[in-house]
Amino acid sequence: MKYIKEVFAHMVESGKMRFNEILAPYTSFHIGGPADVFAMPDTQKELIDLLIYAIKHDIKYFILGKGTNLLVSDRGFRGIVISMEAFRKITRDENFVSAFAGVELKKLCEFTQQEGLAGLEFACGIPGSVGGAVFMNAGAYDGEIANVLYCSKCLIADLENLQSSNPILHLRAHEHDFSYRMSAFQKRSLIHLSSVFKLKEDDPSQIIARMNEYDNQRQSKQPLDLPSAGSVFKRPQGYFTGKLIDECGLRGYRIGDAAISSKHCGFIVNLGNATAQDVLSLIQYVQDTVYRKFGVRLQTELRTVGEF
Ligand SMILES: Cc1cc2nc3c(=O)[nH]c(=O)nc-3n(C[C@H](O)[C@H](O)[C@H](O)COP(=O)(O)OP(=O)(O)OC[C@H]3O[C@@H](n4cnc5c(N)ncnc54)[C@H](O)[C@@H]3O)c2cc1C
Repeated sequence: MKYIKEVFAHMVESGKMRFNEILAPYTSFHIGGPADVFAMPDTQKELIDLLIYAIKHDIKYFILGKGTNLLVSDRGFRGIVISMEAFRKITRDENFVSAFAGVELKKLCEFTQQEGLAGLEFACGIPGSVGGAVFMNAGAYDGEIANVLYCSKCLIADLENLQSSNPILHLRAHEHDFSYRMSAFQKRSLIHLSSVFKLKEDDPSQIIARMNEYDNQRQSKQPLDLPSAGSVFKRPQGYFTGKLIDECGLRGYRIGDAAISSKHCGFIVNLGNATAQDVLSLIQYVQDTVYRKFGVRLQTELRTVGEF
């Protein structure tokens, strides 16, 4: 990290670059040790400069959305965590709505509802950012980002591209290569800048009624009062994850302060002082137990960050 403070002096002075920043408060699990460098660029140029610096110096970097699908190591992250928090613009053009990576999905859904544009109701309770949702192809209640996405702007994280006069790549809908909780952003390590969603006109009161219905379902089924990262495992074809875990007798099962939620067995919750290691041990225990009983290997949906 030689000279990073000098190279990015303007970011350090304005508090947009911090050192040894504890990551737990940036995650919905409230778990995670320090990042060597925590950067919050608020222009595309700052973002590109950070990426160029990291690549040139062979320093690892991690792009952070709202931290709602992450398990961050207790030892934190050796490298630069780049938060997309500051990229927050939303605009409408007819039935198309553009949102930058750092926009909260909830804010986007509220905006589209007020504008009388339907299509994103399924996403109103997903607590991530637009960048994280596109990266993950987030979905719920038979909806997913892939169904409403029209196009995106992104960066290919390679030096030649980042240093070129036009580093921005435009992806049309089919170029996102979406499948269940998967996208081209994961496969090609692309950095998401913004997306345009194609929506349909509808009565705002009908849209909010659907949003409220989904919200009620979430409130009644999910342990939203405790820190978690949502569903820990992907849904295996032909099975329901929560049911498999429940039928292994693991409802409420606990390692340290990490527990299988007694409200929803697909969630692991932090009962207070869970460590990343507690959560990881519990994940492995669940995977082994479910595999032994049902022969089904559960794959994680949440993403691990840092060394374990
Ligand atoms: C209570 C709860 C309920 C949930 N319910 C759902 C649900 O119903 N459906 C669902 O799909 N998910 C759900 N989730 C999981 C999570 O909210 C989603 O996966 C969400 O899309 C993650 O977005 P994020 O901004 O928090 O991403 P983060 O957790 O910050 O990051 C997730 C991944 O995306 C990458 N990323 C983030 N932003 C960018 C970017 N701009 N460019 C490139 N990569 C980026 C990160 O590097 C990381 O690999 C839930 C989580 C919680 C806590």
